[in-house]
Amino acid sequence: MKTKIVLLGPPGSGKGTQGERLSQEFGFVKLSTGDMLREAVRNGTPLGLKAKEYMDSGGLVPNDIIINLMKEKITSLGDGASVIFDGFPRTVEQANALGEQIDIDLALNLDVDDAELLNRLTRRRSCPKCNAVYHLDFNPPKKSGICDKCGAELYHRDDDKEETVRNRLKVYRSNTMPLIEYYEKKRKLKTVQGIGNIDEIFEEVKKAVL
Ligand code: AMP
Repeated sequence: MKTKIVLLGPPGSGKGTQGERLSQEFGFVKLSTGDMLREAVRNGTPLGLKAKEYMDSGGLVPNDIIINLMKEKITSLGDGASVIFDGFPRTVEQANALGEQIDIDLALNLDVDDAELLNRLTRRRSCPKCNAVYHLDFNPPKKSGICDKCGAELYHRDDDKEETVRNRLKVYRSNTMPLIEYYEKKRKLKTVQGIGNIDEIFEEVKKAVL
């Protein structure tokens, strides 16, 4: 089984959802830079204060900040850990920094078209406490507005609103999409179609990972 996995794919492609399923089923540690940054913003830490303006506009937080943050996290995990990276790397510079620290054995690319992404993100609701995500139509919480897993009140991320989503997609195309070729050249890339039922997509994800 692969033990050092990068999840690639645009915002809303299901990296968080599929990464969560993998960590539940196989015990991967999931490191999501987006979740870490949102927590830092909520807590008003120096990192959060620096990151907020970039996140609000849908742009990327500068590479040096992200690379330092992840270096520490990876070091604290130790060599033997099975780990999934969700939302990192997002630039070639970040991928090079990651590659200097550990050998990635799979870059799993979730392929979803823009119209579907826009629908997913504008209808997405997130849990601020445990980071679970829902879709108002396709994966609604059992009780409206409340997280099934931890009971916290769900919210609509500011950057999941339409105008910011459009910018995030542009940023994805110019900064992050080159990583598909980057990992293809290293023969680490597998692409899974990310449209359809969550369980069916997970079956394909498992085939790529096992
Ligand atoms: P996400 O939850 O992965 O969609 O990330 C939300 C926002 O956090 C992004 O739009 C960026 O502003 C920021 N962010 C998350 N991960 C990274 C990263 N690896 N590099 C730069 N910015 C990031």
